[in-house]
Amino acid sequence: KNKRGERPEWLRVSLPQGESYTEVRQTVEDHDLHTVCESANCPNMGECWSRGTATFMILGDVCTRSCGFCAVKTGQPQDGLDWDEPRRVADAVDKMDLDHAVITSVNRDEREDGGAPIFAEVIERIHDLGATCEVLTPDFRGMRDPCETVFEAEPDIFNHNVETVPSLYRRVRPQADYERSLRVLRWAKEEGLRTKSGIMVGLGESKEEVLEIMEDFVEIGLDVMTIGQYMQPTDHHLPVEEWVEPEVFDWYKEVGEEKGIDHVESSPLTRSSYHAEEHV
Ligand code: SF4
Ligand code: SF4
Repeated sequence: KNKRGERPEWLRVSLPQGESYTEVRQTVEDHDLHTVCESANCPNMGECWSRGTATFMILGDVCTRSCGFCAVKTGQPQDGLDWDEPRRVADAVDKMDLDHAVITSVNRDEREDGGAPIFAEVIERIHDLGATCEVLTPDFRGMRDPCETVFEAEPDIFNHNVETVPSLYRRVRPQADYERSLRVLRWAKEEGLRTKSGIMVGLGESKEEVLEIMEDFVEIGLDVMTIGQYMQPTDHHLPVEEWVEPEVFDWYKEVGEEKGIDHVESSPLTRSSYHAEEHV
């Protein structure tokens, strides 16, 4: 059985290349933006960037949290919010000619507003371009006000990842709380938004635990779930406990949709923003 050890063949991906790839890189640099594709060493960069899509990461590149799976820098951000950021994101989306943009962020727990006003302005500006927008937000420490700020801007998809099963939170998401994350998703659903959340597998969770998350999602009426293989970004991050077989991902999709989740995207290379345009 494929446990730990060498990365299996189904996770080998092509290297980034081509004209579109170079253009995306240039646009990101020119607009002084960050992408989660790069920060997370995403294995799909070759595919996504060659197709001309990327996921922007706003509110800076320093996060106040230290999740065990994540390669974004941890620290106390030195600066306030960058109020020019929404304009630059919208310009980049325009330049890349995207019909659908995915925006995520670091956590800014040092701020009362969590950076939510920047999310709202980004959504509005992307809508002004005639494009649709998915936001993948922090939990805003479970505070309702910043969530409302984002909801009111009416993102086409409101995404917040629970990332893993509750029993692994202490190791994987030490500053987060599973119930709190569910609550944020429930609020979004109550506001009539299309909602999305996801997990990584291979961190030591059991199949039963994954099915329990699905049941929680069905209970709040969640629309889209993503499931992908966890990959260790550096030696300092949590180890991979298991390379989950492609057949198990197929089975998760089947079970999740049978249970009543509208769309389950599940494969080894699935990431929160992978094939996002199909989730609108
Ligand atoms: Fe970027 Fe998401 Fe594609 Fe990865 S899957 S390269 S994070 S857009
Ligand atoms: Fe990474 Fe998000 Fe965790 Fe910050 S909150 S460490 S950006 S996963």
